[in-house]
Amino acid sequence: MKIVYSEKFAERYSTNPVEGPDRARLSARKLQSYDFIEPLPASLEEVSRVHSREYIEMVRRKGMLAPALLAAGGACLAAEIALGGEEAFALVRPPGHHAASDHAWGMCYLNNVAVAVRKIEDRIEGKIEGRTGKVLIVDIDLHYGDGTVGIFRWDDGVKVANIGAIDPGFDYLALDPAGYIGQVERTVAQSDFDLLAVSAGFDTYALDWGGLLDLADYREIGRILREGAEERCIGRRFAVLEGGYHQDLPLCIRSFVEGFEGP
Ligand SMILES: [Zn+2]
Repeated sequence: MKIVYSEKFAERYSTNPVEGPDRARLSARKLQSYDFIEPLPASLEEVSRVHSREYIEMVRRKGMLAPALLAAGGACLAAEIALGGEEAFALVRPPGHHAASDHAWGMCYLNNVAVAVRKIEDRIEGKIEGRTGKVLIVDIDLHYGDGTVGIFRWDDGVKVANIGAIDPGFDYLALDPAGYIGQVERTVAQSDFDLLAVSAGFDTYALDWGGLLDLADYREIGRILREGAEERCIGRRFAVLEGGYHQDLPLCIRSFVEGFEGP
């Protein structure tokens, strides 16, 4: 299990104060017993496979291009590690799943998971000889990952599944933890994939905005995703941090990682 992290993820930049540097800094401290690996920024060429040139220039004008490129680079490195056969968690900020090809909201700038999937998708060996493999992106953030869904809408090779998420109109779904975990199980069981990516948001936490899942639930979700990947794609899997704003975020991530890591 590799944790992709840079101390630059704990630097201050202009955003909503809830998305602060401590999210990364304190979470990294909680994961100290794992192997850390430092990413390089994604290249403009890599992010332009997902985002328009005009949009990337807008991110630059907002002064957010450098942190956003590093977060995308973190996701890319996690994807490369997964492709190589080891699982990885990218502890990055800013988050990405509300970033579409030419606009974004919700503290997101570049779609980290999408940039990573686009970078490696041609190299995923499929189950059918001579065919590129399929990717399943499971989004466990409280909010609907509209950016990711939009980017891959017409792409048969990539399936995006939002678990129990609030839709773009903020209609809270009335799920209990067992119902939520059941959705994760069914999504994995009913999908065909050769690599698993996770948009790992933790604002579903019992004490966060979602008020739903506890630490044991995150461990269980990590385990289900790990077992699904082991059964279907020789364990190739990576996760990238999205939301999660309560001070217990480091504990939520730690619990998820404990379930997600190999035996
Ligand atoms: Zn969220």
